[in-house]
Amino acid sequence: MEPMGTEAELATIAGEVNACRLCPLARGRTMAVPGEGNPHSDVLLVGEGPGGREDATGRPFVGPAGQLLTELLRSVGWERGDVFVTNVVKCRPPGNRDPEPVEIDACSGYLDRQELALDPAVIVTLGRFSLQRYLPGARIGEVHGRLRQSGGRFVFPMYHPAAALHQSSLRETLFRDVRGLPAALLAAREAIEAERTEVEREATAVSGASAAEAATSAARPRDDEQMTLF
Ligand code: URA
Ligand code: SF4
Repeated sequence: MEPMGTEAELATIAGEVNACRLCPLARGRTMAVPGEGNPHSDVLLVGEGPGGREDATGRPFVGPAGQLLTELLRSVGWERGDVFVTNVVKCRPPGNRDPEPVEIDACSGYLDRQELALDPAVIVTLGRFSLQRYLPGARIGEVHGRLRQSGGRFVFPMYHPAAALHQSSLRETLFRDVRGLPAALLAAREAIEAERTEVEREATAVSGASAAEAATSAARPRDDEQMTLF
């Protein structure tokens, strides 16, 4: 059977999220918020969970924090439609409280599958619950704005935009950090490409020409990667 395309897989996941009752957050939600954006993007942004506007519309980051997120992306010449945006939990915690560990665990399979489908070069974490998922024990004050590696993924931690709505010094930090994101994306892509080349070289050394040919065709970028900036 053909492997499912990225768009179809993301749509399947969204359908399951919209019908999901795996954790207690299902009871309080108006709409689940699976996430949205460019299915071919090399950049995945992961927030915490839906707020009021998100719960009402079924779309991620459409409230005040989302407005700031859009401004941050625009400051480096990117649009919301260039990236993919989702959250650690897909349903709104009542009164915007923090998500509970059982809720994060219950919901994690959806984000796992979104990551697999998108295969982004960089995952941007927004806030501490997202950071915790990728860099357990890391402190945002120490790691923000710098590219990190975690479990085979490149992670670029940022403060949550909502935090900057209350603390103006964080707003400056966010704009400073996001300025480093395009270079981080290029660095991540180069490292991923170098890794592929290394795999190819090893295949040549171990099994001779036919394995090398197989590795070369596997390492060739897909068309959408050649055509888009992201
Ligand atoms: N805050 C989040 O973490 N996610 C959203 O989707 C909106 C606000
Ligand atoms: Fe399902 Fe996640 Fe919503 Fe819980 S938060 S009901 S696990 S989609």
